Amino acid sequence: MRMLRVLLPWILLLLPVLANARIEVLAPKLESAKYRELAQELHKAGVLQEFAKGINESMRLPQKVGLRFVECGEANAFYDSSTREISMCLELLDTYYETLAEQYESEEELDEAAWNAYIVVLFHEFGHALIDVLDLPITGREEDAVDQLAAWSLIDNAEGDAAVLDAALSYYVSAEASDKEFYESDFADEHSLDSQRYYNLVCWVYGSDPDKHAHLVDEEWLPAERAERCPDEYQQIDRSWSRLLEGSAKQDQG
Ligand SMILES: [Zn+2]
Repeated sequence: MRMLRVLLPWILLLLPVLANARIEVLAPKLESAKYRELAQELHKAGVLQEFAKGINESMRLPQKVGLRFVECGEANAFYDSSTREISMCLELLDTYYETLAEQYESEEELDEAAWNAYIVVLFHEFGHALIDVLDLPITGREEDAVDQLAAWSLIDNAEGDAAVLDAALSYYVSAEASDKEFYESDFADEHSLDSQRYYNLVCWVYGSDPDKHAHLVDEEWLPAERAERCPDEYQQIDRSWSRLLEGSAKQDQG
């Protein structure tokens, strides 16, 4: 009893902290006027807020995770485990517009595709954050595991499937642009090669519903040899990530 009396105030103090741990949108970090304007527009449009709201409604996080737009000086995105912050570089969005420009005829289609690819990266970075704050066991390459999480989070409705396929297309175009020239650093990198990331994402979309996505094989986006294994691959991803996150889903709260 004494132990409980000593501990109880602490537990009560901790409870609200735990209950409030969530993903939070932070102020953007910017250098130039160009990106200041863009960040303001995106902030008004509520892009990151929308993402955070969706996550906070469906998951409990043991620690706060920050999320912000950053002018990084490079087209990238990061999760920093020391600050528990996701930085979404605005330059990356520009790069997607450039990469995908030739693939779409109308401005609206390009807009949507560039954003789709960017959102897939946001889910990828959130995957790194989840592995950190939930201390999830991962074997194999974390970069592949969080590509799986991003695809698995989005797949299952027409918009989500299209987002994953746009991300795949961006890897395809990057791989083509590199003229199939590789350096040692490409093989040493912690990420799979762009072509591999392309085939993985297409495989998982196809595998999630082979009838619905039969055109991906018919139109040779995915070789039949790989396609055959994709339903099992997707089932495994579904089983694994469902199990890894089952303790964190909001509906589990008693
Ligand atoms: Zn990553």
